[in-house]
Amino acid sequence: MESREKNYDVIIVGGGLVGGCLAQALSLQDFQVAVVDENDVSKILQDYRDGRSYAISLGSKRILDEIGLWSSLEKQTQSIETILVGSEVDESFLTYHREDVGEDALGFMVDAGLFRRTILSKSLKSENVTWLSNSTVDEYQVSAEKVTVKTSQGDTITAKLMVAADGARSQMRTLMGISTREWKYEQLALVFDVEHKNPHENTAVEIFTPDGPFAILPHKGQSAGCVWSLKRSYAEDFLKLSKQEMEDALNLRFEKVFGTLKLITPVSSFPLSVRQPDCCVQTRFVMVGDAAHTIHPLAGQGANLGFRDVQVLVRELTKVLKLGMDIGSESVLKKYQRKRRFDNLSMLMITDSSARVFATQNPFMRWSFSKGFKFLNRTSRIKKHMMRHAMGLVKDFPRL
Ligand SMILES: Cc1cc2nc3c(=O)[nH]c(=O)nc-3n(C[C@H](O)[C@H](O)[C@H](O)COP(=O)(O)OP(=O)(O)OC[C@H]3O[C@@H](n4cnc5c(N)ncnc54)[C@H](O)[C@@H]3O)c2cc1C
Repeated sequence: MESREKNYDVIIVGGGLVGGCLAQALSLQDFQVAVVDENDVSKILQDYRDGRSYAISLGSKRILDEIGLWSSLEKQTQSIETILVGSEVDESFLTYHREDVGEDALGFMVDAGLFRRTILSKSLKSENVTWLSNSTVDEYQVSAEKVTVKTSQGDTITAKLMVAADGARSQMRTLMGISTREWKYEQLALVFDVEHKNPHENTAVEIFTPDGPFAILPHKGQSAGCVWSLKRSYAEDFLKLSKQEMEDALNLRFEKVFGTLKLITPVSSFPLSVRQPDCCVQTRFVMVGDAAHTIHPLAGQGANLGFRDVQVLVRELTKVLKLGMDIGSESVLKKYQRKRRFDNLSMLMITDSSARVFATQNPFMRWSFSKGFKFLNRTSRIKKHMMRHAMGLVKDFPRL
């Protein structure tokens, strides 16, 4: 194996949605970036799919536009103009319309495979990004001046800063000795696409059932992506059903949403948990995306939080570089941490409490939520603020 040694400004470990976008955003500010990713580039470019499509907020769309990715995605996205959030039991619904916030759309659905391919193709074309595929970190060393990484492919690379973007079960977070609070929901998210009889009219629907939240998210034409988070044992039973049995089970409960549903893809499953590291920076080290915060997918916010991490980190690093200061200094990185903590923590708390409260059988809690929905539907200022947060349009979060 030939050994290469090269210096960069930033090493990013993990080239998924968030790490890939960070590489692209940094390259536009003339940072020299190396991405260490365990995947085979050709496999991602050819046929990457994981069954999911992502709800991307309007705020994230603007970030992706700024870094030159949106124009390659736009044609194949489906806009979301209305969101209905409600309870299966008492059928109370909270309604969000794009008109409430004076925007053309609340968000967009983007296919996971298209997203990964677009990010990777852009990075491979950039002179400022070196993509080290099929690679993980074998060894690393942090000194006063730099961080040195040896990869599993025998590359030795150095940089002023290393970023962990290696997802929920971050290897780098563990190697750096950062302790993490974690709890599992004992739920699996079942993910699949359906065709439906009636038009969706650009509406995304989230129904909280006593078994877990069910989301049906509009795709192009009369089709939609579904995410049904269910107790593990129940989900495993579902995975054993035939296509016809699964369709019958879905139609029994959700036919009223967009008419009769027909399954058009296999069902994929994802285990669900929450992870909150005690901190996300150390000298010459910072975390972004799911490595820094893993939340329940019920509100479709995980990647959106990650894109906001990218935006804030790139702004901080660019400022520091222009001043000729050290981008790996802990005090610089702590500014990023303070700026991101409120947004990330509050989204974790909102999604976690929603998952728990709606799963409860307690009639008083259910009654309170139904009343809460009715109150929010009438109280446009609070509703508007909640919408702007979920859409990633709140500019200045309190710093924690
Ligand atoms: C069912 C479900 C539905 C979701 N829907 C939405 C949604 O609608 N909207 C939304 O915003 N979010 C959604 N999310 C959350 C979203 O998937 C994550 O927040 C997002 O993928 C995080 O991106 P990331 O780049 O941080 O991590 P990842 O996507 O996990 O990428 C990490 C990358 O690092 C690589 N890697 C891992 N370990 C190593 C290593 N040791 N060395 C090198 N490379 C490594 C991985 O192979 C991968 O390429 C959903 C999540 C689930 C489970």
